[in-house]
Amino acid sequence: MARGRLIFAVDLGGTNLRAGLVDASGRVVARRKAPPRGDRRPAVFLNTLAELRSELSAEVKGRPDALALAVPGPMDAGRGWVCSPVNVPDLGRAPLAAMAGKALGLPVTLVNDATAFTLGEHWRGAARGHPWCLGVTLGTGVGGGAVLDGKPLLGARGNALEIGHLTVEPGGRPCGCGRRGCLEAYASASAVRRRAMELAEGGKLPGLLAAAGGDTVNINSRLITEHARGGDRICAGLLEEAGRYLGRGLALAQALLDVDLAVIGGGLAGAGELILSPARESLDLHRFRTPTELEIVAGELGGDAGLVGAAALALNLF
Ligand SMILES: [Zn+2]
Repeated sequence: MARGRLIFAVDLGGTNLRAGLVDASGRVVARRKAPPRGDRRPAVFLNTLAELRSELSAEVKGRPDALALAVPGPMDAGRGWVCSPVNVPDLGRAPLAAMAGKALGLPVTLVNDATAFTLGEHWRGAARGHPWCLGVTLGTGVGGGAVLDGKPLLGARGNALEIGHLTVEPGGRPCGCGRRGCLEAYASASAVRRRAMELAEGGKLPGLLAAAGGDTVNINSRLITEHARGGDRICAGLLEEAGRYLGRGLALAQALLDVDLAVIGGGLAGAGELILSPARESLDLHRFRTPTELEIVAGELGGDAGLVGAAALALNLF
């Protein structure tokens, strides 16, 4: 039987839906992952949440007393609305916090998913003891969050640090937001995958295509990383390019925030130094020089970070 406060934390990404019960010490005591790319229309999503809560509650023989919901932006956090997230279009514009609160009978905290990632890594992961830090997720999109002087940077409506939509290449590749040259169009896991698929279709990546069973649809970050590690220079080049653009984005954020640590998460962070090393070089090239050195590290909590961070906010730890 679980004792003390228990938060039902849900991290809805562009691809994955993770849910867990997080205790007051930041431990994920039970977790579930729903099938990727499922139907995310609000009514269906809320049914999925109710099922996940039942399963998790049964597993730990305890009931959560609050829901912490991490979703991709944009949002109106004060009113509890999601505003047609670029990477989860099914959700549309909806008063999701109120709908979830009614469906589950719990108080709801709504937070940007990358902010939740950052808070999780700050509370229990790679950014522990860093009151000035930044978090960046490289997944379906590119998200950002920050902790400044030990407090989360949320913004007026919960949309602070949408680093993925900073312009890093004017007039560059099209982005899902409708503009061009955004960081997300270069450094997200989806952007790297898309480039690899184009090259594979053009006959440039026969090894990768063979590993994907001959179908470009099966190409993903993990395969690209494996091939880069195995000496494939084109795959390594794709990751290096993503890292260089990430460094540019970090230089812009650093000039505004004066943070000394950037924690990188999301699917593409699994490429480790293949991304982080070019990001450091690019940051060094593009940054405004101050006495603050921005260290770039990989996250430590993996898929749990968003759950832990969303729970931290619901627990009023900041
Ligand atoms: Zn964009």
